[in-house]
Amino acid sequence: YIVCKDVRKAFGSHEVLKGVSTQFCTGQVTTIIGASGSGKSTLLRAINRLEPHDSGSITIGGVEVTDDARTLQAQRCEVGMVFQQFNLFGHLTVLDNLTLAPRRIHRTPRAEANERAMALLKRVGMQDHAHKYPWQLSGGQQQRVAIARALAMQPKVMLFDEPTSALDPEMVQEVLDVMRELARGGMTMIVVTHEMGFAREVADRVMFFDQGCIAHDAPPAEFFANPANERIRSFLRRMS
Ligand code: ATP
Ligand code: MG
Repeated sequence: YIVCKDVRKAFGSHEVLKGVSTQFCTGQVTTIIGASGSGKSTLLRAINRLEPHDSGSITIGGVEVTDDARTLQAQRCEVGMVFQQFNLFGHLTVLDNLTLAPRRIHRTPRAEANERAMALLKRVGMQDHAHKYPWQLSGGQQQRVAIARALAMQPKVMLFDEPTSALDPEMVQEVLDVMRELARGGMTMIVVTHEMGFAREVADRVMFFDQGCIAHDAPPAEFFANPANERIRSFLRRMS
């Protein structure tokens, strides 16, 4: 569904993506792991055009990711993104955070947008907090709202960039549970994470980034049972 071909990106003379080629298929859950600075976020950001790549191509459902404003808006509706820092709109209630984009971009009538938003909040266990503001919520609650907000655009794929890294340990599980449910429902997901348990249990595929390249890509059972090389072994040792 998402196809990357020889994607390259440099910041100045620093090559951050050195020719990444891969595909993310519909319904598949991919986890991306790898050392800090290896280019994981840059790849996600390139898929969403938050960071334009220098060369190579990225297509979403056969349509190339470029700067064309119309196409880009359609693609950003198709591709939901959840960040480490929840990035909720602080001046809006939870409910309004969820309905803003559907109302503005899809022109969904308010009543319908509210109804859908409430259903999504229920799905992430936040229906009782619809009228609160982000600052009144815990980190885990904010992240669950951020996931629901991305889902409100009815995306076909969800990108997660270390969604639990900024959370207190006791809140990590509630967010992973929501993501696990999403995966079970068949959502196409690309998840950058340090949560090896999630990668092991939920992912169809684990991708290891090393210095701007995909160094290894395998189903979790194989990936963890039989680390392909010493860099992966030492990475996994540091994680556990
Ligand atoms: P982490 O695990 O720490 O999040 P990462 O794998 O997500 O790391 P990236 O954020 O993709 O790594 O960054 C890759 C490299 O590109 C890093 O060396 C980073 O400093 C550099 N970089 C990222 N964004 C920019 C930018 N806007 N300008 C300059 N350099 C950048
Ligand atoms: Mg990152």
